[in-house]
This record gives sequence, structure tokens and C-alpha cells, in this order.
Amino acid sequence: MALERTFSIIKPDATRRNLTGQINARLEAVGLRIVAQKRKQLTQTEAKAFYAVHAARPFYNDLVAFMTSGPVVLQVLEGENAVLANREVMGATNPADAAEGTIRKDFAESIEANSVHGSDSPENAAIEIAYFFAGCEITS
Ligand code: ADP
Ligand code: MG
Repeated sequence: MALERTFSIIKPDATRRNLTGQINARLEAVGLRIVAQKRKQLTQTEAKAFYAVHAARPFYNDLVAFMTSGPVVLQVLEGENAVLANREVMGATNPADAAEGTIRKDFAESIEANSVHGSDSPENAAIEIAYFFAGCEITS
């Protein structure tokens, strides 16, 4: 087991419903430590670049519109196997498929407005963290 970092976003559907604290409690309950956090309104450019991997998907334009529809909370999470631990507590992309007790099962509104983002690999976590945080903003 290795101490690892992952990148997380609390999405606009969740900030709109004032769920940041409840979601953070779920993260901390599974041993993830929030080692950096900032609330931000994403620009179109930032949202498009962040989700560029999905640019060819039919939901891409809607996703960018959703992610810029209100503030998000950008986070760096640290813990043992943080990438996988966060994906587990998040739950499946579609809340209809998400396991009991996961963030998406309990809070997501739809497959698009699904409350949280989490990196899918340590390699992508490093890229996503570096896109939004300077090294001096992250404190273990
Ligand atoms: P995850 O966030 O679970 O890693 P993906 O990387 O596949 O899922 O998709 C990124 C985001 O795009 C999802 O979290 C969701 O907000 C949105 N999304 C994914 N699939 C769909 C879909 N079929 N319809 C609308 N939005 C979707
Ligand atoms: Mg993904």
C-alpha cells in the first residue's frame, strides 16, 4: 500500500445544494485527507480542456455547460491507494448503478449532474492536479 494523491471536483449540482461539507465528510470517513481545496467558477476554456478526452462524445457540450453552470470545489486528496479509494466512495458514473452508501447514490441528480469527479488513474491524477494546483498550494 502506498500513500497516493488523487484529484477531486465537487460539481455545480452539489455546490448549488450546499453539499460540500457532507461530501467532504464522506471522503474523510474513508481515510482520504483533503490536502488542498479551492472553490472556483470554471471558465469554458478550463472545462473544455479538463474534459478534452471526452470531446468526441455526444454529451461533451452539455457537460461543459454543466461544469460552468456554477462554482465547483477543486480538491487534492491524499491517502492509501487514494485513486481507487476515491472511485469507490464516489460510486458508479450513473447514480442508478451506484452502490449503496456511495456519494453518487446518495447525492447525484443524474448521470451528468453526478456531484463529484475523481481521477481514474495515478497518471491522470498527476496531470489533473498540476492543471489546477501549484505545488506550493498542497500541504500534506
Ligand atoms: P466518471 O466521472 O465516472 O469518470 P466519465 O469519465 O465516463 O465518468 O465521464 C465524465 C463525466 O461526463 C461524468 O462524470 C458525467 O458528468 C458525464 N457523463 C458521462 N457519461 C454521460 C452520459 N452518458 N450522459 C451525460 N453525461 C455523461
Ligand atoms: Mg472519468
